[in-house]
Amino acid sequence: MFADVVEGAGYGQLIPPLLEDLGVFTRIGDATDVVTKEMYDFVDKGDRHVALRPEVTASVCRSFAQHRPTVPWKVYYSGPNFRYEKPQRGRYRQFDQVGVEVLGVDDPQLDVEVIALAWEFYRRLGLTQVRLVVNSLGEPDDRARYVEALRDHFLAAGTGLSEQSRATLERNPLRVLDSKREPDGAFIASAPQIASFLSAEAAAHFDDVQRGLSALGIPFAVEPKLVRGLDYYRRTIFEFQGGTLDSAQNALGGGGRYDGLVEALGGPATPGVGFALGVDRTLLACDDEGVFPARPVELDAFVVDVTGGLQATEITAVLRAAGFAADRGYDNRSMKAQMKLANRSGAHVAVIVGDDELAAGTVVVKPLRTSSDQAPIARTALIDHLRTVTDASSTPSTGTDIT
Ligand code: AMP
Repeated sequence: MFADVVEGAGYGQLIPPLLEDLGVFTRIGDATDVVTKEMYDFVDKGDRHVALRPEVTASVCRSFAQHRPTVPWKVYYSGPNFRYEKPQRGRYRQFDQVGVEVLGVDDPQLDVEVIALAWEFYRRLGLTQVRLVVNSLGEPDDRARYVEALRDHFLAAGTGLSEQSRATLERNPLRVLDSKREPDGAFIASAPQIASFLSAEAAAHFDDVQRGLSALGIPFAVEPKLVRGLDYYRRTIFEFQGGTLDSAQNALGGGGRYDGLVEALGGPATPGVGFALGVDRTLLACDDEGVFPARPVELDAFVVDVTGGLQATEITAVLRAAGFAADRGYDNRSMKAQMKLANRSGAHVAVIVGDDELAAGTVVVKPLRTSSDQAPIARTALIDHLRTVTDASSTPSTGTDIT
């Protein structure tokens, strides 16, 4: 479904590697927990220091810097990431993300486009309790001045701040805003806000993004204290929060602009914007909201073979090749045991072969969802017969007869 949404907007699939040179990630921010504390890195047999990717954006930018595709480069990806975290509901050491990245476009309307794509994805899933929050971190200079003001503010709090936040403050004052620890709350509430540090250009960019979202009718809230886990973001940042999830793990996904990242990875100065959505948390939200229930496998036929099993092998293979969903019993179990499995499978019909049928070149087709009579038919007529008894939706347009 994600691929449908983004391919429909001109994005092509990229499959970045799970393993990258460590430098790809250390260059994106050595003040970032994801890089300093949570990365699985090791030295390989060729003495290369490599890492299992903790996120995908850096790999996409590395790939761009290496291959220099024409811009705008609009790509999407899906797959696992690895972070050494304390596992709990919604936080795993291996988790899946889907995401998009666009390189080479500075236009705020593109920020709106990527946000709208994620929004559309959640809408198609049927999620209704997703909240969009947005913020701007300004240009690098704005951000640097803001970080200094934050540092002064939190230093003044002294030992009033939690011990963990005092440690975070030394590395990265912005991340203190993310703290959910009780003693930090009051200092975070009174902290300076980025809005008063934005340059005219950054403020105009942010206004345009908000106007675009409003034009599309996408509800959002400006959250002045929103920061993101990775440090490479500039200007627009956003997060999708699941209304049903615990607040510590309620981020379903997020993203933003990272205009300096390609440069940091050895490429030309290139604007970039994108997002990553956590698949595991999105599925938790789907469970909580009762949408997107797992679809039971809809079987057309369940093959019951009491002649040893080889006939079931042949018949299921031919049925499957003709486009029918077919399953079977194994282990040469009794007729009664196999019929029990057939009934439990929810299939339209049981296709039964015993010694008599095998000798006569027939099968017995027994409807399982209605009380109609079971009928012996020639094996050569089975596919045509199944077409008449299964739903039009599961009926293939072509098929081969069993001979
Ligand atoms: P991030 O790359 O940190 O911005 O994360 C983007 C999204 O990935 C988050 O909003 C989560 O939905 C998901 N995510 C991040 N870390 C984890 C994790 N350890 N376990 C499960 N999902 C995660």
